[in-house]
Amino acid sequence: MSAKRECPSCASEIPADMDRCFICGYEFAGKAGRRNWRLWVALLLLLIFLLPFIRMLVRALR
Ligand SMILES: [Zn+2]
Repeated sequence: MSAKRECPSCASEIPADMDRCFICGYEFAGKAGRRNWRLWVALLLLLIFLLPFIRMLVRALR
């Protein structure tokens, strides 16, 4: 199987499993975007998890 897609930047045929164009270096939004989305969700969950501890710390300092 050799699925290909066209690079939006330089219009060359790139293998579909690559997340970056080897001709011009264009990064396909799909995989990288999903990774960033997961990072933000992880940070948000961490913040929600840490919020009671931060409140306790603020109360203890007062
Ligand atoms: Zn390209």
